Amino acid sequence: MTSILVTGGAGYIGSACCRQLLEKGYRVTVVDDLSTGHAEAVPSGVSLHRIDIGDSDSLAAILSTSEIDAVFHFAAKALIPESVMNPGVFFDVNVARGIAMLETLRSHGIRKVVFSSTAAVYGTPTIVPIPEDHSKDPINSYGESKLVFERILQWYAAAYGWSVVAFRYFNACGGASDWGERHEPETHIIPLLLQTASGRRPIFEIHGTDYPTPDGTCLRDYVHVVDIAEAHLLALQKMDGSGFHAYNIGTGRSHSVKEICQAAESITKQKIHVRAGQRRPGDPSVLCASPKKLMDEFCWAPKHSDLDEIIAGAWEWEQTQCSKLVARP
Ligand code: UDP
Repeated sequence: MTSILVTGGAGYIGSACCRQLLEKGYRVTVVDDLSTGHAEAVPSGVSLHRIDIGDSDSLAAILSTSEIDAVFHFAAKALIPESVMNPGVFFDVNVARGIAMLETLRSHGIRKVVFSSTAAVYGTPTIVPIPEDHSKDPINSYGESKLVFERILQWYAAAYGWSVVAFRYFNACGGASDWGERHEPETHIIPLLLQTASGRRPIFEIHGTDYPTPDGTCLRDYVHVVDIAEAHLLALQKMDGSGFHAYNIGTGRSHSVKEICQAAESITKQKIHVRAGQRRPGDPSVLCASPKKLMDEFCWAPKHSDLDEIIAGAWEWEQTQCSKLVARP
């Protein structure tokens, strides 16, 4: 049985990949320091080790006993507003500790890595939809840290014959009654809107209404995490040779913040209190993927990324969160 190590497997996207790997019969081991992830998000049947990826001794001990074939590397700091305020910690966790992890993998003969990268490597796009060979000029330290790590992986692939796939995610979203997005603090549009719809928050603020877009609000490419997880599984079939390959994961369609607000009202059937606010530092006006390379080379297509399905699933998850709050004494 193929055995996959998932770093950051207690997080939103990492745990979605764990579920899909298990479903397809892979053996899954998770390492996560639980700084932002949740132990209960890790599906049963997966062994969870609470360690830092930079803790080489602990990671080496796990690798010595688990015969890992490939690594899905999600563990990272990922909140863009925080990365604007506090870049040092992003380079520490996403780069320095990442290198320590790569060296531990290398000393255990592991040569296949699927890396969780981001659309933020592109910065403000000059071509939309964005192809993978678009210029890379990040406008926040989160994007810069992911770009640096992609380049490090490129050197590992060249020097050591590793097979590396970097996936540049656009806006990951979606949920169901038993899984979903849960960040502390929450900064993402869909959970924030739905928490406003359910009454957990008084108001939703649109970060900027003066962008050069048709309705003045930012455009983003929203892609369901189940579709993202599917791409990771397809990558595993293509990792027998060596080399570094980067792919966008997005739908090629974009929605404005105002469109997301309207869709959330229509799915939840709630009036959501929304007000226009200032721009948020680090936000480009448009991010939309060209997923052509992923579609052509992996036969991938988004199957769950219609806005209604995304929001309906995330709304189920929000209702689960609310019922837990009511049940709590
Ligand atoms: N956004 C917003 N209000 C919020 C949170 C997000 O208007 O309270 C906007 C944000 O400015 C961006 C879009 O929603 O244009 C998506 O933001 P999110 O943080 O969900 O993802 P990002 O694109 O930053 O990865």
